[in-house]
Amino acid sequence: MKIIVQKFGGTSVATAEARIAARNKVSDAIKAGFTPAVVVSAMGRKGDPYATDSLIEIIKNENSAVDSRDLDTIMCCGELISAAVMAASLQSVGINAAALTGGQAGIKTDANFGDAKIRNINPENLLLYMNAGIVPVVCGFQGITEDGRFTTLGRGGSDTTAAALGVALEADCVEIYTDVEGIMTADPRVVADASILDCVSYGDVCQMAHQGAKVIHARAVEIAMEKEIPIVVKSTFSDAPGTLICNEDVVEKNSSEPGRIISSVAYLKDLAQFKVRLDGNDVNSGHKLFDDLAHNSISVGCLNLQPEQSMFSVFMFDAEKTCKLLKDVGYSFEVHLECSKVSVVGSGMRGVPGIMATFVAALAEKGIMILQTVDSDTTISAIISQERLNDAVTALHDAFKL
Ligand code: ADP
Ligand code: ASP
Ligand code: MG
Repeated sequence: MKIIVQKFGGTSVATAEARIAARNKVSDAIKAGFTPAVVVSAMGRKGDPYATDSLIEIIKNENSAVDSRDLDTIMCCGELISAAVMAASLQSVGINAAALTGGQAGIKTDANFGDAKIRNINPENLLLYMNAGIVPVVCGFQGITEDGRFTTLGRGGSDTTAAALGVALEADCVEIYTDVEGIMTADPRVVADASILDCVSYGDVCQMAHQGAKVIHARAVEIAMEKEIPIVVKSTFSDAPGTLICNEDVVEKNSSEPGRIISSVAYLKDLAQFKVRLDGNDVNSGHKLFDDLAHNSISVGCLNLQPEQSMFSVFMFDAEKTCKLLKDVGYSFEVHLECSKVSVVGSGMRGVPGIMATFVAALAEKGIMILQTVDSDTTISAIISQERLNDAVTALHDAFKL
């Protein structure tokens, strides 16, 4: 059996027309000799009646401090509706199909409600359906705990369901269908002339996702990478070939641009950057600061520690709590609210001189102040003021000729 997992995102199942386009992709896969397993997200986006954000709003209006287990229960409902409707759509054209919850598809998770990790998948039930010629339409983004509670896998987590099912079913390929024709050199909502990458490595896409590119869930890429299952990101609404995500050596062989240095520009919004003064004569002062933050469950990023000061960022929703903590403990600090992090990502930059020079020059030419840089061997990032974010993304996209 040649198995393919086909995942359809929120916009691909939002309307009757979209569902026709989606089911045509399923029917094409069957005609091409594949046995498909379908994964769906909740219908539509923020503001649409059954979208995840709308469900969260309903319950939070009732009680903003709702128990995380019950929040996960309502958050699973969007995918339940979507799976039933998509199964009905497939049945309407003679494709035998059945909607399954994450639990019915054998997905067991830990009990970290809101951001649960998949512990194991037993594909037996799915295979019963598939061997009987029935297309399972699985609710993305959800699993169940050992004791049977609904869990969700983190926002955007239907991609992760698809990748994990791809591994469990030993699929030939995982297709992620969405509203863009592939992974692009920048978010097309910010850079109108961003181009589509024909082929890109698991590592680069993972970095892009961690740096904020919402096109695919980072964990999905990590799961597929481990078992080297190819992922193709493509549009439900066209026949464009999309982007193949695979190993670096396969990228080098297949890419129209071998030796590419930078793959993409990504961004993360809504950060607050802190600069905290430390006692340069006390080796424990940095340790104490990060202990204080950790004990208050404040998650920090973009860390920089020097004898006399430390810089770090938190999400805006933690900014007030962080200010209060630093004041209460008696630290002297500065804070920049409403910041963003803009990053260039590319494993090709390893050992290449001049990337930082181009990066800094691109932002300086537009008069964009860099508050801090952070880097790894495949990523260079800068914290900047959020009001200049779009200019920064465009400037970097131009400077690296993406
Ligand atoms: P889905 O509901 O299908 O999962 P998402 O909204 O999660 O769709 O992801 C698709 C969106 O990701 C696109 O509409 C696009 O605006 C955004 N996006 C951000 N960065 C990129 C990028 N580098 N390439 C393509 N799309 C991107
Ligand atoms: N519906 C979920 C969300 O909005 C999962 C997904 O779309 O992948 O986060
Ligand atoms: Mg998504």
